[in-house]
Amino acid sequence: MVKAVVGANWGDEGKGKITDMLAKDADIIVRFQGGANAGHTIVNHYGKFALHTLPSGVFYEHTTSVIGNGVALNIPVLFEEIRSITEQQVPAPKLLVSDRAQIVMPYHILFDQYEEERLGKASFGSTKSGIAPFYSDKYAKVGYQVSELFDDDVLKEKVKRTCEMKNVLLEHLYHKPLLDPDELLETLHGYRDIIAPYVCDVSAYLWNAWKSGKTILLEGQLGTLKDPDHGIYPMVTSSSTLASYGAIGAGLPPYAIEKVITVCKAYSSAVGAGDFVSEIFGEEADELRRRGGDGGEFGATTGRPRRMGWFDCVASKYGCRLQGTTDVAFTVLDVLGYLDEIPVCVGYEIDGEVTTEFPVTAKLHKAKPVLKTLPGWKCDIRGIRRYEDLPKNCRNYIEFVEKEIGFPITMVSNGPGREDIIYR
Ligand code: GDP
Repeated sequence: MVKAVVGANWGDEGKGKITDMLAKDADIIVRFQGGANAGHTIVNHYGKFALHTLPSGVFYEHTTSVIGNGVALNIPVLFEEIRSITEQQVPAPKLLVSDRAQIVMPYHILFDQYEEERLGKASFGSTKSGIAPFYSDKYAKVGYQVSELFDDDVLKEKVKRTCEMKNVLLEHLYHKPLLDPDELLETLHGYRDIIAPYVCDVSAYLWNAWKSGKTILLEGQLGTLKDPDHGIYPMVTSSSTLASYGAIGAGLPPYAIEKVITVCKAYSSAVGAGDFVSEIFGEEADELRRRGGDGGEFGATTGRPRRMGWFDCVASKYGCRLQGTTDVAFTVLDVLGYLDEIPVCVGYEIDGEVTTEFPVTAKLHKAKPVLKTLPGWKCDIRGIRRYEDLPKNCRNYIEFVEKEIGFPITMVSNGPGREDIIYR
């Protein structure tokens, strides 16, 4: 059985917590896209962790963690992360890294910084983790697969060619220091030695695991609206954030994915630039940001304050549809307990017409939110385990959202811990 855990919106929906929770009954957890540019925050009995590359299943001894071919693999970041969790007494994870995963090179990170600098005000708000230059190179067919680290003659020649090509841009476009092929080769030798014990033919491994009835979780990063095809292009990430890409980024058949658990937060937040229709500002936003998530809505990787907004039914309906949702996990509902009334965005007004279909980017910036206000429940719902025990206004909120988005909310998360979950 293969299940995907993915985000409906801009990311930071709480996928890490839901994956960590579902990992209890899983055998294998796979990262299939993205890199160390975003993070999941996980709270469990070992402590609080920000993971960027490791799958959220690493805290269980019975699971195997897999880095799929679709991931942008930053080897030093991965190993720093392993070091930091083992330092906090978490047992060393069983880790497999696809021999087809490609490597984030030190120059990808530099190019990301240089390009944002060059763009100035028109920049994308990149986390400068090298993700866009990495995927550009992957699709320009000049990237490095993990397996290439193990053939020194080929590697040496390729490094030489890479430096020639990159140095043209460094010299003439960015006016920055040039790459030295010997230094780059040495770095790659270091990467090879670190990664060697984990390298695996991941698609064969997963095929066999799937055939023998193992439970596999595919863990997505970010959310639908950051997908390069279906998101708010160009303010998107550079790899597909959709469950269907899970098949590609892990190397599994598309029909193997039986469940798509789409994580949807009870209010909105976004990082980086781009249109955000239900965004709020000022004191109203500050208060939600301060109370949000577990200790405030600030980026797990960057510490940046997140942009805040009310729940957006238009974006979430679209987000769930593109994911192919079978189940919605509705998260961080406990945070809204302080509000007398809760506005929800139920439509977009574009050129005087109201729509509930999420528009293309060219129209999105004209959209104004159509808000409906629901009554708040004014109490702390943490600790509640049965749906019937939630306050009536709280159930109304959930049921209203469910009706608007048109996908079943089967899990409600009312706290950051593994046990803070209500199944319906
Ligand atoms: P992800 O990238 O989708 O995993 O999301 P993040 O980890 O960036 O953000 C989710 C934040 O909310 C983390 O700090 C979680 O610990 C926290 N969180 C997850 N679910 C809940 C919940 O139901 N209630 C509260 N209060 N916090 C939650």
